[in-house]
Amino acid sequence: MHRLWGCALFCVTLAAGAQQPAFTLGSATARAGQKATGHLDVPAGKDAGMRLPVVVMRGIHPGPVLALVTGAHGTEYASIIAVEQLIQHLDPSRISGTVLLLPLVNVQSYLQKVPHRNPVDGKSMNGFYPGDPNGTQTDRVAAMITAQVVERCDYLVDYHGGDIDENLRPYSYWSKTGHAALDAMARRMDLAFGLDHIIVETGRPRDPAHSRFLDTTAATRGKPAIAVEAGRSGRVDAAEVARLVNGTVSLMRLLKMLPGEPTLVAHPIWIGKVDTVSSPVEGIFYPTVDRGTRMRAGAKLGYVTDFFGKTIYEARAPAAGEVLYICAVPTMNKGGTIANFGEVTLVP
Ligand SMILES: [Zn+2]
Repeated sequence: MHRLWGCALFCVTLAAGAQQPAFTLGSATARAGQKATGHLDVPAGKDAGMRLPVVVMRGIHPGPVLALVTGAHGTEYASIIAVEQLIQHLDPSRISGTVLLLPLVNVQSYLQKVPHRNPVDGKSMNGFYPGDPNGTQTDRVAAMITAQVVERCDYLVDYHGGDIDENLRPYSYWSKTGHAALDAMARRMDLAFGLDHIIVETGRPRDPAHSRFLDTTAATRGKPAIAVEAGRSGRVDAAEVARLVNGTVSLMRLLKMLPGEPTLVAHPIWIGKVDTVSSPVEGIFYPTVDRGTRMRAGAKLGYVTDFFGKTIYEARAPAAGEVLYICAVPTMNKGGTIANFGEVTLVP
């Protein structure tokens, strides 16, 4: 868009006959060496329509199509700002292949500051893939992303983080599908992304018609995909944004989309099992440990009082392991999440 010298490069390469044809996503069309912005328009149906912002970066040279999707939870701010930085800083004249960036999937969650769900229909926007063009807004957006982004990409990254009420330490997911080559590539993508805690998922859906999550939607269609999480509690910490930006650059090096070598995590912590610790009572939550705390089974995570200050529940570590995230706010509902707790395992 605003890289005229990229156009000059495009013309030079055009003469050499090596450039790629244009790529269109929604209203954004980028020729080789260009960055284009636009929208995917999801029409109104049972409820309101939505305009999804999209960016296409078309590299000069051929290469894979990498989809970077964030903001399914519109108040996981660090993950949204990281993709905003990638939109600004990635240079299509240096890229081989194509990058499709979706900087904000859950527009109304962001605008209304509603965590976890799309306020239009009350659904998580990372729970209803592959979507339904006749469903509610979340279903229709998912169907659009499946058709226009997942089906047309070769690799995918879904960015998340601690929501407003989640004090989360960074980690990524390795979702094993049972297909050796796909799983090996996703594992390499995790290692190249560089977050040193990796949750190993083995129970994700295997049916592409009921894939539920975005990364699983890609994986069940044969495209290696990872989900990554950084940021917490409504904050935009520069260091956590940088981990997502730098991880993406390293991943693009692994995929030969940028020059240079990826930086692989040397000794990742593999989380083999995640326990959700829930509160049996409503009241006021007081954490007694921070994110990332290593604990023994039975050690105290925090406690809940009634509105008169009397302790009515003590939360304890369900096993030996580490606090992946812990509730960041006093509000505690009956059945609400106190913490997600990772049990560390040895994984190849
Ligand atoms: Zn999320």
